[in-house]
Amino acid sequence: MNEIIGHKKQKDFLKKIVLSGKIPHAFLFSGEENIGKTSLAIAFSKFLLCDNNGCNNCKICASIDKNIFPDLCIISKENNNIEIDKIRSLKDFLSLKSYNNKKKIAIIEEAHLMGIDSQNSILKILEEPGDNSVIILITSFPNMILGTIKSRVQKIEFNHIGRKEIEDYLILLGGDRKEAEEISQFSSGKIGKAITLFQNREEKDFFFGTIRDINLLIKEGVEKRFEYVKSIYEDKEKVSEILNILERFMRREMLLKLYRKEDNVFKNYTLLRIKDIIEEIQKTKYYFNNTNTNKKLLLENLIIKL
Ligand SMILES: [Zn+2]
Repeated sequence: MNEIIGHKKQKDFLKKIVLSGKIPHAFLFSGEENIGKTSLAIAFSKFLLCDNNGCNNCKICASIDKNIFPDLCIISKENNNIEIDKIRSLKDFLSLKSYNNKKKIAIIEEAHLMGIDSQNSILKILEEPGDNSVIILITSFPNMILGTIKSRVQKIEFNHIGRKEIEDYLILLGGDRKEAEEISQFSSGKIGKAITLFQNREEKDFFFGTIRDINLLIKEGVEKRFEYVKSIYEDKEKVSEILNILERFMRREMLLKLYRKEDNVFKNYTLLRIKDIIEEIQKTKYYFNNTNTNKKLLLENLIIKL
């Protein structure tokens, strides 16, 4: 698991559990998106399945990387939904004999996208877990997971990764100091985001384009702001991404303010006001992604507060 950046406390805890020999049948990894929860779940799986503590050098580790190892099953969303059939087939998968006499592991990404039927299916499995089965639920919205499930899992919470750690990692990947600094400043401790920004030209252009839009927009009145909302609100994926970027932008502003740097955009805003805006963005993100609230209204409501 040492190859995973940051999350030392979580890694140490998982290692300790394995050494104690009392491995729980289920985990809930929670924390914001793109901070490395899935990467650590896969590294932990290697740790449990490989004969050499997840060496990243053997056939088992290699087939886990290719997602073809028979004792590991990763379930991801399809069309914003975790299909119930996949959850139902888990029971059979977990009851099969382990290929190398170790564990049968199931990782469910974005577990909050399981409907109530799927969650009840998982609950049934958790009530009578197989001897060797381990289920790792991953989510950035733990509140959407049934309390009855949460009471049966080992909860592990994940935090942001330090800016310096991200910066050093990007330099290790071949970035220069300035670029690494810029990207780590804007990635709000999200290592996954930082790597995509670093490696994907299109994402990088969209990201810095949005930053430019925000900079222009905050100098404009209500009319121009609402025009902007009108031009984006129907594209759900795009809006989600813009809200994420806006949040990161404001977090950076907050840091600049804290360290009294001169080049921040919201010069006249108090720290408290910036903090309020960040909370408002988080609220909007939640309602936008998880409810049927009028999307245009939601965004208009947010944009006049900037
Ligand atoms: Zn290995």
